[in-house]
Amino acid sequence: MEKRLIEKEALAGIVGELAEKMQVCAPMPEEDRVLFRVLAPGERPLVDFANTKNAPKNFLFPRTETMMQYTRTRKGMVLAGERKDEGKTVLFGVRPCDARSFTLLDRLFDQEKYRDPYYVAKRAKTTVVALACVHPPYTTCFCTSVGGAPVSSEGVDLLLTDLGEAYLAEFWSPKGEALLSAFGGTPAGEAEEKQKEALAAQAAAEIRSRIPAREIKPILDTHFEDPFWDTLHLKCLACGTCTYLCPTCHCFDISDEVKGNDGIRIRNWDSCMFPMFTKETSGHNPRPSQKERWRQRVMHKFRYYVDNFGAIACVGCGRCVMACPVNLDIRKIVTDIAKL
Ligand code: SF4
Ligand code: SF4
Repeated sequence: MEKRLIEKEALAGIVGELAEKMQVCAPMPEEDRVLFRVLAPGERPLVDFANTKNAPKNFLFPRTETMMQYTRTRKGMVLAGERKDEGKTVLFGVRPCDARSFTLLDRLFDQEKYRDPYYVAKRAKTTVVALACVHPPYTTCFCTSVGGAPVSSEGVDLLLTDLGEAYLAEFWSPKGEALLSAFGGTPAGEAEEKQKEALAAQAAAEIRSRIPAREIKPILDTHFEDPFWDTLHLKCLACGTCTYLCPTCHCFDISDEVKGNDGIRIRNWDSCMFPMFTKETSGHNPRPSQKERWRQRVMHKFRYYVDNFGAIACVGCGRCVMACPVNLDIRKIVTDIAKL
């Protein structure tokens, strides 16, 4: 694997230049937040930030996506216009938890039996450039409890680790190596690798939130009916913030919007927190209250995803913990379930 040292002051300029050649999405300050967004050509991203409010998942699985356009004719439906081919995109400044979320979404959207062409096309043309968390930014981070690590290359094409004087750049995949000439730098060796390994161990030790996330699957298997679910949801406002910010949530709804004979088919994010979630055309809703919907959220992430794809559908980013207006904390919920 190719390893280089990149001067710290040079990094933002390198990414700005890259944004002149292809689409680059990166963390940028927006009012009092940091958001992932597309850079204008030459625009320099933030390289020193904690974690973005929105997850970079949005660029692979957008909140609203047009699947097709059509016109109704006497002979039936005619597809109008070609689907736009996705261009190459670099996602810069992705944190390891969010990079790992892509590998979890791949298991769902890129199965042999069910392949989602919209996600797969974008994923194939996206290069993930991650910034290792040498000092995990928040007390709400808990990546190590769900199988991740603050300095990790899982889901990453090019990993940048701040060694103090310079960034160690590790080009983990052919997509990462395609950025070798853009990132430049000088060759790195064993000494820098050892320094990174020491930083990785220290960063993992700095994670303060530790929860028994990997222990609750057998408990969930046998506690679908349990008084625990009767109160868990009571203060939830059903605002959906937790699911909208989550890098692994992926429920969506498909609808048609038609005007005259022309229509578009779009898919929009859905949320298990919304009352309409799983409501059927007959009016029947198998998850009629927030109790069933909250149980679904926990079961989906910590039981069904493990059954179906062999991993917990949470990367421990802590966004839902930070943003919930009534302080419903997934870490406490998991810890309470472990005591059942
Ligand atoms: S459930 Fe919460 S902590 Fe886990 S990945 Fe989603 S937003 Fe992050
Ligand atoms: S963010 Fe909090 S209040 Fe809003 S839906 Fe999620 S758990 Fe409920």
